[in-house]
Amino acid sequence: MKDCFSCPQPSDAPMVDDCPVVHLSDSAEDIDKLCALLYGVYHLNSESVDTSYLAMMMRIGRKYEIASLTSTALNYMQHLFPSTLQEWDNRQGEVSRLSDNQDNAFIFDIINLAYESHVPSILPAAFLSLWRNYTIESILSGIQRRKDGQPLVTILGPQAMHDCLRGRMTFLPDFLHRVAGHLEKPGEYGYPFREYQIPDYGCEDICSKIFPDLLVLLLELAKNESFQFHQGIDEIWTDSEEPCKPPLCTECKYQLDSAFDNGRNEAWEGLPILLQLDQTFKVS
Ligand SMILES: [Zn+2]
Repeated sequence: MKDCFSCPQPSDAPMVDDCPVVHLSDSAEDIDKLCALLYGVYHLNSESVDTSYLAMMMRIGRKYEIASLTSTALNYMQHLFPSTLQEWDNRQGEVSRLSDNQDNAFIFDIINLAYESHVPSILPAAFLSLWRNYTIESILSGIQRRKDGQPLVTILGPQAMHDCLRGRMTFLPDFLHRVAGHLEKPGEYGYPFREYQIPDYGCEDICSKIFPDLLVLLLELAKNESFQFHQGIDEIWTDSEEPCKPPLCTECKYQLDSAFDNGRNEAWEGLPILLQLDQTFKVS
């Protein structure tokens, strides 16, 4: 930015208080927000962030090479939309609180900003949070809110919407398929004679009776309007219409929990590929 003011000016260039007048091509709103940030009028805090400030920090920070602006905005987005599943799980309370405000389209804004500023790394976590907090209907129709007293609909941009729907359609079957794969017994049996880890040899009769119910419970996740990506089978069971713990024997419960956990971790790792982010962002 210093370079803007040190450019040689014509002798008749307008001056204010012996300083040259420099015309900027940025929007007045961006410059206004930049000043509010630089003079400490606005503070980026995790309680209620105004996404238009994040957008300004990315735009102005990159254009004028103000590294502290871009890195602050990036750190904030990467904190909420991290690259590991464990961190993603830990952030969901915070992200839901930020999205709960009705006058707010927080996750929509963040995803659009990630496309605009070319930050694909936060997108798997951001899309998963979007699917968790919004129904397909809200994703398609966008979020209605008011800005400066005027009605405004925030909707994902065309490429973001395209990637979002592709991911939303493919992620859940991919996840369930992986869980089911981990429940299969390794061995010489293949289709159509699949063998499963549950019931185990010699375990209680109840395990064989409850196993089909567990599979139905998993499939019913596809019925839900939003997709929770629960941390464990117990959490799904608690959320279901007949909440109770699956009464499996210890060995079968262990097999089920580890199949779920492995499937969940693999689905998370595979999400960037399902979203085809490498093609959208031409990452080599
Ligand atoms: Zn059992």
